Amino acid sequence: MEVGRQDPNLPQKEPPQLDFRVRSQRPRTQGSAGGHHLGRSPKRYRKSKTGRMLSNFPELDFRPEDNSGLTASDVPAGTFDTAVFRCRACGARFEAIIANRVAMRINGRRGDLCAQCTGWLPSSGNSLADLPGWLLSQLRLPDGADPAVLPLRGGSYRRYWWECSNGHWFQERVGNRLQVHRNCGTEAAHTCGCSACRGTRPVPDNNLRVAHPEIADRLDRMADANGYAADSLPAQGGAAKHVLHCGAPGHRPYVITVAHALRSATLGCPDCRVARIEPW
Ligand SMILES: [Zn+2]
Ligand SMILES: [Zn+2]
Ligand SMILES: [Zn+2]
Ligand SMILES: [Zn+2]
Repeated sequence: MEVGRQDPNLPQKEPPQLDFRVRSQRPRTQGSAGGHHLGRSPKRYRKSKTGRMLSNFPELDFRPEDNSGLTASDVPAGTFDTAVFRCRACGARFEAIIANRVAMRINGRRGDLCAQCTGWLPSSGNSLADLPGWLLSQLRLPDGADPAVLPLRGGSYRRYWWECSNGHWFQERVGNRLQVHRNCGTEAAHTCGCSACRGTRPVPDNNLRVAHPEIADRLDRMADANGYAADSLPAQGGAAKHVLHCGAPGHRPYVITVAHALRSATLGCPDCRVARIEPW
């Protein structure tokens, strides 16, 4: 029998049952029988395989009196057990999985602050209710949701629905909306950050058909070849090439980007260009 090939007569291992509704498929350690909570009882660890112990991360405030007498040099940095840390900002104790805190340090994040101080939890001055008025008026939360219970900082992956002052709906992160607005200098109702208003997303009142009807006519003559119509393209046509036809008898379809067609006197039709030159 080949080395490394499993004997088919042996009982096969059951494939793990994964639940795709949750973000991480790593078994939960906190609060389950598998995980260990150093704040509740001590534990003896073997030496870490990488040799990296929690004491290599002195920014994390890990104290023996909070963790059943263990010191940071007793605990490997990569364990998924839970420990009690103290917040460097407010001094409060908080529980966290040790490897997660270490990963934050390695990734250049602080990791030494409690959820309140990082902004993960909402507080006064850190909730959607504290957005500037023009932006708050565009926020569309589900019915009954209170903007004061959702934090501004922390959880930067959180996206919300917005409705711009022209009625376009889109999803975006709070940080991105504020970033785009940095150079606007106005607090009046306006549409910065809305891709439909900027013309990079097609909507019924702003698309290639509305912005450049002469190109749209040429494109819609070849709608079957293109596989789409002009009203499904952004106002400036995007970066892709399209098949156009000028409609003159005997002229052939041609392939061009909208930007190039607009720069040409004949909207890019090579046969029209020849026809213009021929009289000379
Ligand atoms: Zn804190
Ligand atoms: Zn703005
Ligand atoms: Zn808009
Ligand atoms: Zn032509």
